[in-house]
Formats: sequence, C-alpha cells, structure tokens
Amino acid sequence: MSFIDKILFVFYPGKCAFCGELMPYSKTGVYICGDCLKSIRFCVNEKCCPICGVPIVNDKKICDECFSLKKNGTSVSYDKIVSSCIYDKSTKNGILKFKTGAAGGSYSTFAGIIAPIVRSSLKNIDLIVAVPPRKERMIRSGFDQCHVLADKISKLLDIPYKKNAMRRIRETGKQSSLSGEMRRENLKGVFEAVIDRGIIKNKNILVIDDVKTTGSTINECAAALKKKGAAHVYGAVIAETNLER
Ligand SMILES: [Zn+2]
Ligand SMILES: [Zn+2]
Repeated sequence: MSFIDKILFVFYPGKCAFCGELMPYSKTGVYICGDCLKSIRFCVNEKCCPICGVPIVNDKKICDECFSLKKNGTSVSYDKIVSSCIYDKSTKNGILKFKTGAAGGSYSTFAGIIAPIVRSSLKNIDLIVAVPPRKERMIRSGFDQCHVLADKISKLLDIPYKKNAMRRIRETGKQSSLSGEMRRENLKGVFEAVIDRGIIKNKNILVIDDVKTTGSTINECAAALKKKGAAHVYGAVIAETNLER
C-alpha cells in the first residue's frame, strides 16, 4: 500500500461489497477484495446463454429452456438479459445484505460491475428503468435497491434513468419460496408501465433488477413496457442464480 493509499485507507475506508473486508479508498467506487476477485464467477468469463444469461454447461449455443421456447414458438417478452456475476456462496451474502439495505453503500460496486457488461453486450439503449419494489420491503427497510442501482448505472453509462416508470398492480409476496413455474404464474401481469407512451414508443429500454432467478420479473416488466410501445427491452442484474442448463 502506498503512503497516499494508507492515508486514504484511514480516512475513507471502503468495504468489499461481497465479504465486508475493509479496503483502501477507490476512486471508481468499486470495492472487491483480492480474495473475492479470485472466487467470484464473473459472467464475462463464463459461457452464458445469449438470450437469458444462464450459464451453459454443454456446447449448445443457447440454453435448453430458450431452445424449447423457440421451438414451441412461445417466446419471452424481453430481448436479452445480462448479469455481472453468478449467485453462489462467494456472492450471496454481500448481495443479500445490499438487498435488505444493511449495506446500501455497496450500490456503487454493484453498479460498477453491471455497467461494463451492459456497455459491451447491449447497444443503443435509450432509457433505463428499475423493477419497482415490493411494498412490504419498502415498509420494512425503506430501501429500494433497484432504484439506487439504476440511478448509478445511468450515471456511469450516461443514459437517462426514469424513476417510477413502472408500478406493481398487486402485491405478490416473497418469490423465493416458490418453484419456477409458480413464480411465473404469481408474477403474470403484475407490472404496469406508468411512463408516458410518447417517452418509450419505439425506444430500447433497459430494466435493472438485483438477482435473476427464472427471469420472470424482467419478462413481466418487458411485457408491460412493450404494451406501451417499447421496441426492445433488455434486463441487467447483479447476479444470475446458478441454474446451469
Ligand atoms: Zn471480499
Ligand atoms: Zn437461455
């Protein structure tokens, strides 16, 4: 550590967003310690499905689920989802802490690792929106993790962000205890785009969420945005749950 770094470390320490280790001040606002850097599976180093972003273990070009959807002619509403890393034991705790608002400052790290993958994988995005929070979460923590992420990503990429562009028509309860099929059913038609049609008509929209499990949340957001005239809808998340297929 250089002398300057030592001074900065004393006065402006940061914390690794994944394990909480104290770290020297970083101009970029991205705090990931050396151990986490080594253990985290970043999606840029993985072979992932070019449509839904899930890691692919076989030598196919797209994952089995996207393949069977294509074959049946039942396509999803989103055009592509990208993730910065894989949700596993190396990333889970940091992300959960961030989601609950206990480590709200980690947003700059998470936005800082999502922005480059958006920049390299998704072109011509006109507007960024965030998945609207569940009411229960807002009452509990008052922290809207997708909003702070989207706001920071917007600044990093210099793409406008529209706050409160979407709302939940009904509450859905916690999704984490449900199976994939139940999640999909539970979320059907749950979002409404409350943004002016004129703003999103024929535009390419990027939806920011925290963790992707089945892709249902982004899919439902995409359906609502396309109903209002959006041309393409993409999704970007911190982490992709490790459902390799
Ligand atoms: Zn760490
Ligand atoms: Zn796929």
